[in-house]
Order: sequence, then structure tokens, then C-alpha cells
Amino acid sequence: MLAAGAVTADFGVPGVAQHAFGLKSAAEALDIRSHVLRSFERAERLGSEAPDGLTTIVIVGGGPTGVEMAGGFAELIDRPLRRDFPGLGPNLGRVVLVEGQDRLLASFAPRLGEHARRRLEKMNVDVRLSTQVAEVTADQVRLGDNTTVDAETVVWAAGVKASPLAAALGVDTTKGGRVVVDEQLRLPGHPDVFVIGDLAAQQVDMSVGDSELVPQVAPGAMQGGEYVAARISEAVDGGRAYQPEPFKYRDKGSMATIGRNAAVVELPRGPKITGFPGWVAWLALHLVMLIGFRNRANVLVNWAWSYLTYDRASRLIVEPDRPPVL
Ligand SMILES: Cc1cc2nc3c(=O)[nH]c(=O)nc-3n(C[C@H](O)[C@H](O)[C@H](O)COP(=O)(O)OP(=O)(O)OC[C@H]3O[C@@H](n4cnc5c(N)ncnc54)[C@H](O)[C@@H]3O)c2cc1C
Repeated sequence: MLAAGAVTADFGVPGVAQHAFGLKSAAEALDIRSHVLRSFERAERLGSEAPDGLTTIVIVGGGPTGVEMAGGFAELIDRPLRRDFPGLGPNLGRVVLVEGQDRLLASFAPRLGEHARRRLEKMNVDVRLSTQVAEVTADQVRLGDNTTVDAETVVWAAGVKASPLAAALGVDTTKGGRVVVDEQLRLPGHPDVFVIGDLAAQQVDMSVGDSELVPQVAPGAMQGGEYVAARISEAVDGGRAYQPEPFKYRDKGSMATIGRNAAVVELPRGPKITGFPGWVAWLALHLVMLIGFRNRANVLVNWAWSYLTYDRASRLIVEPDRPPVL
């Protein structure tokens, strides 16, 4: 079963690979945290000599990941970092969210994208819609209209593409590099090889033929996994004497948190929820989806502590593993 997922797609924009942070692994998340904390420390040390963009964080991509990141950073700057770096005064960092389309959260209903924009702007996030990033350098982001934003932290949340493993298979792939699979999520011509999750071009209803592709989200991967596990288990138990039902995706809705007390939730064919009720729904679902009671209890206590104290977990700067200097 191939489930190698997706990797960051830079769409050929110069400088992204060299100067922007991707957000596909825990290691990248730790790198971002270390870089931001280091930049704030440098800014405080340099005082008025600090370069303009040292504490500016540009997030590229206004989908759920970009919106969640922008809200998270705005809160981090407004509370814990304000407390940790009193020397920075009014030069405390700023967050810029750049989106190529004319609205945020394009996969959600327009009113939810608008809600997210208003909410982020209230949190002092500089939201730039209909704006393309043309180039990223070590200390600047050049936009499509040739203006620049000074920034030493750029997070690329503008998109993903299927793992390069897909291309290595030498089979049909979609424009986004996803492996075309048959109605049982098998590699065509290879009935014993299944492909699922972000790597696969799973269709919402595989029996229909050309239906929409399942979005590259966790429920798509989980449902594909369950489906294939059942097929393998049947094969182990007694062969494939019958034709199983084709894979069918059940859309369970989408949600994105914007910050403290704010989230947008879109249920399939159901109501759209924003604000505090949406945020509580986001918290509850993410708690329930954690594995094991111990994890749920730990996370609940940590969240409650952060909520009441406005504090965040340890602010460690960790260096990537490097060979020892001899
Ligand atoms: C920042 C971020 C936030 C997200 N938030 C949400 C969210 O809130 N809700 C949601 O539903 N979805 C979210 N997603 C999407 C979700 O994470 C993916 O859709 C889901 O993880 C896909 O599962 P997968 O098993 O296909 O791939 P992955 O979870 O990416 O797992 C693939 C694994 O394969 C490994 N691998 C890759 N290549 C190889 C190889 N050649 N050999 C061996 N191993 C390999 C990788 O290291 C990785 O561990 C988010 C994604 C990102 C990046």
C-alpha cells in the first residue's frame, strides 16, 4: 500500500526553496519556531539597528493552513512574545498573509472566507488578497506588482503536490502529480498494489467515473486506509470471490481555527458555524480524534492552561542536527 503523501509545491517561484519555510513535517515546524525566536532575540539585541523585516512574518497562501498560521502568529506576538521581548516596544513583529485569489479559504463558502479576513485584520494581520508572490529572497518578498515586503521569515503554505514517489512509478498521474487509481484504489495493472491518501487521485465516488477528486485532507487518507484494509483483510480471509463496492468518500465537512475563540466550520449540506461555537467545535473534534485517553487528557489540560494564562508551551530554540565541528 503506497501512502507517501504530499510535499510542498513552490510552483517554480524563485527563492521559495532556498528562503521560505515549508510546513509539511514536525522538523519544519521546529525550524520555524527556532527561526522566529532567534529573529526576535536578534531584533532586541540590535535595537534601532535591527533591519526592517527582521520580525516580520510573511505567510503565503490563504487556505486553512495559512489562515491558522497567521492567527497563531498574531496571537503569539500579541501575548507571549510581547512579554518575552519588552525591549522591542512598538517594533514588535507583524504578520502579513498573502493570497493570490480574491478571498481567503477558497474551499469554504465565501462568507466564511470573509469572516476569516475580518477576524485576522482585527488581530492586526495585514491580509493582501489578489496578490501573487513573484520571488522570495533572504530578507524580502517581491510581489506580483513589483512592490516588496521586508521579511526574514517566510512560510510557504500555498500548496502541496504529490510525493515524487508518484513520478518514479512511471504510471498515469494528474496535474498535481497524484497517482491515478482504479475504483478499488489499486494501481491500474497491479491488483496487489493500492495507493491512498494525498498520493492518490481518489475520486469522491469511484463508481461514477469522472467525479471530483477527494481533497488532500486527513479524512480522505483515513477513509482510503480503512477501505484498503478491508480489501486486504478479505483477500487474506478467503480470496476475492466477489466484486467489492467501489471506494466512496464521505465528506464530513471542513474547519479552520483563526485564533482564540474563533473558527469557521462548514458541515456538508449543513449549517455554517463561525466564532466561539465554531472554535469549541474545532477543539472538541481535534480532542476526540487524538489517539488514547492519556493524549486527550494531556492536550485538554495544556489547552486549558494556555487559554487561562495566555501562555504557550516551551519556547525552545533547537538547532538542526549538524556534523560535529572538528
Ligand atoms: C500544515 C498542514 C496542516 C494540515 N491540516 C489539516 C487539517 O486540519 N485537517 C485535515 O484533514 N488535513 C490537514 N492537512 C492535510 C493532512 O495532513 C493530509 O491530507 C494527510 O496527512 C494525508 O495523509 P497521507 O497518509 O496520505 O500522507 P502523510 O500524512 O503526509 O504521510 C505520508 C508519510 O509517508 C512518508 N514518506 C514519504 N515518502 C516516502 C518514501 N519514499 N518512503 C517511505 N516513506 C515515505 C512521509 O514521511 C510521511 O510520514 C494538513 C496538512 C498540512 C501540511
